[in-house]
Amino acid sequence: MSIIDAERLKEIALTREELARYSRHLILPEVGADGQRRIKAARVLCIGAGGLGSPAALYLTAAGIGTLGLVDADRIDPSNLQRQILYGTDDVGKPKLEKAQSRLREMNPEVQIVRYDTQLTSANATEIIAPYDVVIDGSDNFPTRYLSNDVCVFARKPNIYGSVFRFEGQASVFAPHLGGPCYRCLFPEPPPPGAAPSCAEAGVLGVLPGIIGLIQATEALKLILGAGETLAGRLLHFDALKMKFREFQLRRDPACPVCGDAPSIFAPIDYEQFCAGPATDDWFAAPAGVPTISVRELKTKMDMKEPLTLIDVREPYEYEIARIDGRALGQEQLDQGALPGPCRMGERPAAETIARLERSAGRQQALRQGLAARIGRREEGCV
Ligand SMILES: [Zn+2]
Repeated sequence: MSIIDAERLKEIALTREELARYSRHLILPEVGADGQRRIKAARVLCIGAGGLGSPAALYLTAAGIGTLGLVDADRIDPSNLQRQILYGTDDVGKPKLEKAQSRLREMNPEVQIVRYDTQLTSANATEIIAPYDVVIDGSDNFPTRYLSNDVCVFARKPNIYGSVFRFEGQASVFAPHLGGPCYRCLFPEPPPPGAAPSCAEAGVLGVLPGIIGLIQATEALKLILGAGETLAGRLLHFDALKMKFREFQLRRDPACPVCGDAPSIFAPIDYEQFCAGPATDDWFAAPAGVPTISVRELKTKMDMKEPLTLIDVREPYEYEIARIDGRALGQEQLDQGALPGPCRMGERPAAETIARLERSAGRQQALRQGLAARIGRREEGCV
């Protein structure tokens, strides 16, 4: 059954230009003129205009979606261009939605593009999502992912999930009111900040969000048309290296705090507020008995010209991006036995501090967890 009810279709007609533009849709019995009118009547919200949002927005615009809302507060960064195909080299530094809007308008002026140059927060999520029929979650962080899920459950709107990580991606349709679970049925609470490596830390094959983003766009069109079987109640996992799709059945959790039989969450939660606590540093102290210092403390020691040896164990490209000149030994030098003097714990000269330089908490955690490959792991941030 289509999520666009018949009442909405009454005011929608296709112009002569639209009949020509969408002729390849119109000859499909599963679409036809009625289906194209449903697409024209539909309002789709795309949260994030990055790796997943770019292909989804481009193809939904081409398909003739009536209104496409885009939520993104970011500016275009050179590192986006490897996969975020809405943007070009000359766009670096511009607000993403400024370029997205002009590119999508050029592609199909019939589509109304609505910009939300902001982050989705607990304060604005309900209002932003309210006018839309379906939400595509192309977010790159847990607070947004949980907000999108929760508000969609409250408002009984399908939330089309997608995520990518390195060479793998997954997608589903979370819509407890249509059957199947919500995101919280799978993961009741967000992981602690820094516990999941981001895309910048783990990398992603540039084509991967294209594939997953288009699966999300396909699911949106199917929900609008009422055609076929959606991914509600199923998680589709894609492995690009093996070129294999696998499917997992998902069930609603009766104990889910949002869509369960006795829910305990009734309003949007701004996880950013209480995720931003000292937990970011907790991981650093996690290996028991290993003393650590903060970056600020290190700088103070260096400014004071305290004798210390800094061992840089980052990847070479990270060293190229940010280095501390003259004071750090790289892995290559260590391999060549360049470590000065004894350095095992308890054996180093008392006056020296040996500091390991890691780029971020997420990376350290990823290394510790060995990037365990399992379905439903908590990796995000690759859009
Ligand atoms: Zn649920």
